[in-house]
Amino acid sequence: MDKGITGVCFGDVELADNTISKEFLRNENIGLPQMSELEVLRHYKEMSDKNFCVETGMYPLGSCTMKYNPKVNELMASLEGFANLHPLASDEDSQGALELMYKLQEALKVLTGMDAITLQPAAGAHGEFSGMLVIKKYFEVKGENRTKVIVPDSAHGTNPASASMAGFEIIEVKSDDRGQVDINDLKLLLENQGSDIAAIMMTNPNTVGIFEEQVLEISKLMHENGSLLYYDGANLNAIMGYSNPAIMGFDVCHINLHKTFSTPHGGGGPGAGPIGVVEKLKDYLPKPTIEFDGEKYYRNYDLPNSIGKVRSFYGNFGVLVRAYTYILMMGKDLKHATEDAVLNANYLMNKLKDVYDMAYNEKCMHEFVICGEKQKEQGSSTLHIAKRLMDYKIHPPTVYFPLIVHEAIMVEPTESESKERLDNFVEVMLKIAEEIKQNPEMVNSAPHNAPIKKVDETLAARKPDLNYAKK
Ligand SMILES: *Cc1c(COP(=O)(O)O)cnc(C)c1O
Repeated sequence: MDKGITGVCFGDVELADNTISKEFLRNENIGLPQMSELEVLRHYKEMSDKNFCVETGMYPLGSCTMKYNPKVNELMASLEGFANLHPLASDEDSQGALELMYKLQEALKVLTGMDAITLQPAAGAHGEFSGMLVIKKYFEVKGENRTKVIVPDSAHGTNPASASMAGFEIIEVKSDDRGQVDINDLKLLLENQGSDIAAIMMTNPNTVGIFEEQVLEISKLMHENGSLLYYDGANLNAIMGYSNPAIMGFDVCHINLHKTFSTPHGGGGPGAGPIGVVEKLKDYLPKPTIEFDGEKYYRNYDLPNSIGKVRSFYGNFGVLVRAYTYILMMGKDLKHATEDAVLNANYLMNKLKDVYDMAYNEKCMHEFVICGEKQKEQGSSTLHIAKRLMDYKIHPPTVYFPLIVHEAIMVEPTESESKERLDNFVEVMLKIAEEIKQNPEMVNSAPHNAPIKKVDETLAARKPDLNYAKK
């Protein structure tokens, strides 16, 4: 600690005696790493070289839509007027930013079919929570005491978590053998607990990559019961421009801008999870809303029934600029993104299905789920297959989700990958299947070529070692 090397020089700092109360004064050396500026840079560069991103290689992380993040998005977000605008600047001084937010809302209205949008929530899960609060408020104002929310057993974990955080009790509806909501089970729940049920939360296409064919019947049943429908929009990349949650009968939805709309994610964000609602829920949206009076864009705080603020300022503005840029650059080609995403997933599924068992033998949408039971019987497992992919410079797919599929491997190639990349993925997956037959031990001890070898995941989570010092 006394090497005396430093990257910065504070000079002599003089504080008046009473600036900091004595009890808070430090007596010992603060213990900061002693590094020159160059060594600090090398440290971070070395860490970034160990990182894997979509610019390193294919990133087929099911449900997460790790598509290419166009660089033009970054260029727009770094424009001085956007990047340096203070969030507390007056409406008058922020017309450009407010216009962008308003126009993004309008675009999302078209894409979701919803009547009003808020851009405030910071992620999909945060959107779910906000949407659930809106639903709660709706019933509160109506004077109905509905305490339960139905969530399919295939749902993303954030669905029951958000509904529960908003104060609802969760009831599970089963999936049938085709991976879709079991409509008879749903009818039974409505029959027995109907007057308690506030809403159902659904993802469509659902988390096993299959379109819920009975969605119109489900929305009819729910609405007849006086309940609402929440749409988890994480899989919007499979239907964008072809269908939308409003057509399917949903009342509230969220959109993950960091998935479908190409803003960067992974590593914790920032992201954005705007929500859309139908007309009758408009008054409950978080405030302020961003509105246009025909001449000026403005923040409207005059919403007596609003659920209040859900995020400091107005959301992750930099993310909103990137998503709006993507929408403008793509225009009608957003439909092509959907087509290619679905085509790519079906191509992969068909190329792999003779060697890997598919969880459902149905045409998939933008992702599909492999069941790795066969490979487990041969002495390996889904976890090992995922790790082995890293040796071939492919990011592991989502594994062990959804929970209803044993040894699940969930593959989502997105539209960004070329046929050559898809063929490479197929080749690697087939090779790994062969390796398992020949030498499962070798697969099970992978990765062999990644910067970090197999980690003890329990230890890493329970006792993370974040020390900068080289051991
Ligand atoms: C990603 C995802 C979410 C949560 O979204 P975040 O933006 O990560 O909070 C919810 N549901 C599904 C199906 C998802 O894939």
